[in-house]
Amino acid sequence: MPDPTTTAPIDDRMQKSRADLLARSAPGALLFTIALTALISAVLWPLVAHTWILAWALYMGGVSLARYLQIRSYAAATADADAVRSFNKWFVVGVLSAGVGWGAAGAFLFPPDDLVYQSFLSFILAGITAASVTVYGPVKRALRLFVLVALLPLAASHFVGADQIHIVMGAAVTCYMIFLYHLASIMHESLMRSLTRRFENEDLINELQVAKHLAEDTNQKLKAEISIRNRSASELMEARDKAQQATRVKSDFLATMSHEIRTPMNGVLGMTELLMNTELTAKQYRFADTIRRSGEALLAIINDILDFSKIEAGKLEIQHTVFDLRQLVEDTMAFFAESAHRKKIELVTMYPPEEHAAYRGDPQRIRQILMNLIANAIKFTDRGEIVVKVATLQQSEESSTLKFEVADTGVGIKNDHQGRIFDSFQQADGSTTRKFGGTGLGLAICRRLVELMHGSIGVESRENVGSTFWFSIELSTMPESSISGQIKPDLDLSGIRVLVVDGNETSRDILKHQLSNWDMKFHAASSAAHAMKYLKKGADLGKTFDLTIIDHQLPDSDGVDLARRIKSDSAIADTRLIMLSSIDQLDQTGQWYLAGIEVYINKPIRQVELYDAVSNALSECGPGSTSQPQRRTSKKALAEKQSHEIGAHVLLAEDNPVNKELARAMLEDLGCTIVVVGDGREAVEAIAEAPLDRKQRRYDVVLMDCQMPRMDGFEATLAIRQWEADNGEDTPLPIVAVTANAMEGDRDRCLAAGMSDYLSKPFGREQLAKIVKRWMTVDVEMTHLAKQREQKRSALPVRENSSADVLADLDHAALNNIRALLRDGSNAILAKIIGMYLTNSPILLGKLQEAAVSGNGELMRASAHSLKSASANLGASRLAELCEELEDFGRNDNAISSLATLGIVEFEFEAVCNALSLELDDKAA
Ligand code: ADP
Repeated sequence: MPDPTTTAPIDDRMQKSRADLLARSAPGALLFTIALTALISAVLWPLVAHTWILAWALYMGGVSLARYLQIRSYAAATADADAVRSFNKWFVVGVLSAGVGWGAAGAFLFPPDDLVYQSFLSFILAGITAASVTVYGPVKRALRLFVLVALLPLAASHFVGADQIHIVMGAAVTCYMIFLYHLASIMHESLMRSLTRRFENEDLINELQVAKHLAEDTNQKLKAEISIRNRSASELMEARDKAQQATRVKSDFLATMSHEIRTPMNGVLGMTELLMNTELTAKQYRFADTIRRSGEALLAIINDILDFSKIEAGKLEIQHTVFDLRQLVEDTMAFFAESAHRKKIELVTMYPPEEHAAYRGDPQRIRQILMNLIANAIKFTDRGEIVVKVATLQQSEESSTLKFEVADTGVGIKNDHQGRIFDSFQQADGSTTRKFGGTGLGLAICRRLVELMHGSIGVESRENVGSTFWFSIELSTMPESSISGQIKPDLDLSGIRVLVVDGNETSRDILKHQLSNWDMKFHAASSAAHAMKYLKKGADLGKTFDLTIIDHQLPDSDGVDLARRIKSDSAIADTRLIMLSSIDQLDQTGQWYLAGIEVYINKPIRQVELYDAVSNALSECGPGSTSQPQRRTSKKALAEKQSHEIGAHVLLAEDNPVNKELARAMLEDLGCTIVVVGDGREAVEAIAEAPLDRKQRRYDVVLMDCQMPRMDGFEATLAIRQWEADNGEDTPLPIVAVTANAMEGDRDRCLAAGMSDYLSKPFGREQLAKIVKRWMTVDVEMTHLAKQREQKRSALPVRENSSADVLADLDHAALNNIRALLRDGSNAILAKIIGMYLTNSPILLGKLQEAAVSGNGELMRASAHSLKSASANLGASRLAELCEELEDFGRNDNAISSLATLGIVEFEFEAVCNALSLELDDKAA
């Protein structure tokens, strides 16, 4: 810290410093004064009156003593400003007194007539005053007075002599006096200046020191702060590491749990499926079916938990693919048709025809949210209807904000429960939970998914009235041409008069929207009686209805009865009839046909199907003479038919005895020959030892469980690939990973390990069949592709180049159904339809080839979809199934990888065309 004496005002410090200087130099001056006083007294003793000398000497001694005492009393170190001031004042008095003494010597001790002694005195006094300039420099005014008082009497004494020498001496003393007088001023000023500078420097040093101390203080504080921060940063890092570790442990745990639960579930579900395919009594079948349903419910819960944990762990990513939103909504609704029907709930879709349908986003997740909301709506509704609505809230050039609504007429939710149902594991109240079950995770997952898509979700509900769950998300708009399934009517439907007969107002509304969109003239009746009235009135006015769409269940009558009544009244019988039916009524279609119904469509109504139905009903071969009901071959029937055709040679590597049994049973059921091994090492050995078959293959496919003892599936695959490389095997063995790990990235891991495909547990027989078939036929298709390339540059027209000896196995039931459309059982319609197929399908095949070469997923999906349904209608089920695979390639934006499958499709297509032509020839013959 700076010295406090140096922090006083400069003036005070100057005073003090002056006093200190004087006090320091004065004792020497006093001693000198006393010595000179003695010397002068002694020298002049013989020449001057002794009284004068004594008086003078006493005076000088007294003054010196007084001054000495004053100096003694001044304690330089402790003196305060007042003491300094008083010292300075009395010091000046002392100096003046001394000056007076010296002046008195010049006046009274001036030796008369003795020039030598006069000169001695003058010399002494001159010396005294010269010395005083250095001693009394700090007190300028006192010094000047001292010089005047001490020398003036001496000069006067010289002048009194009045002779020349005295006048010269007097003048010299006077000049000397004037010189000293000025010198006093110069000395004083330079002294003051250096003192001022010194003090200013001192001040500066003080300030610097203060600043330095401040800087040191701040430095200390900063150091403390930094060390605190460093500590908290390292604590944070530690916490983060722990959290990351915890998340890793959690996801690992989840993956393991998922595996552990899915593996036995695989056994339960698979074995039940097999069990249900054996001969069972009705009761046993019911029990087995209950096991299957419970197993599926449990699996759904496991999937929910897994999904939720994935979201929590930040592992769930939103995809961005182009998709058809209308189709997505309609497919989702179709999925629930049966369960809604079982509860006698009306399921209605409101996706206005004019709404855009092509978007880029995550269709899987949107479907998942919709499925959750619709499943809840069905669960919590006992009567009434469920309406699913899609509307555009906002639209820009690139994107649209869409609002999805699922409105039900169910139990509703109390106001105070509405806020918490979107939280995880929360349900509205205990009683509904007991009645309906559930985990309380569904809505929490929906909310997280919507948030991941930057949207919002909510509910409006009134107890016992119903709930409307909604969510809105922004999606990038894509050109409609990027998806297929758009309804651009080939047939001009404008002006066609249509009557809709339906007891449900919402259904009537939807139909009104859809039909009006094609400019049809829409009328509606809410009952059979109304409908009859309308139809008759129309006929009377000459405005008959071209088409009548009848709901199967009307408030006052059965829809089929109404159809019969219409067809039996000749005035109105010309109208063509479409039946709106439910899934479980399909066994009655024969009756409908007899009642004069041309076409039926299942509810919920899909726009594409409605368009197909309307145009079929109105087409030439439709009404009047005959009808053309839609017939579809169910997927299950396809699978069943195909299941016995595989006959692959399969190596199965699996350690779990239940899964081993299950897979063996399924594979045997599929007509495969199987070699089973218990771990990866045995799998490698089995491959190395197996003989080559005529296709130069050891096995058609290897099903490789990922987690096995001794050597797991990944290591085994690496070893097999290495073995293949070492032994010059050209075609890699198809290795399908079979795993219960459903976590993100598992598929990639399998493919990275060199596996060819991936099958997730639990799997059904259908999935297993599909995957085995896919891989066992690869070399057939390769050979075929090579042959094709050789034979023709362009694949089209296929029929012309087809070899007549390849015939597809057609489902004759489907063909006969078409034939049955004409009462005379003739081939007219079949010929027409086959003709259309043979003309149009090669175009679709061309598009598929183009899509595969250019990697255009959408083109592939759309073309494959069209070819699939056309082929299925003509009983070409294997071709339909292959097209479905192509559709999947397209949907997954992986058209490029479809080349192999496309090869088989071309091959099969050729066979189908041959078989169809033969069919026509046979019948014609
Ligand atoms: P849960 O598996 O229990 O159905 P959700 O998260 O899907 O879980 O739903 C949470 C709760 O919200 C349900 O338990 C139910 O109380 C209420 N809830 C959801 N949807 C509806 C609905 N449509 N009508 C009435 N209550 C509903």
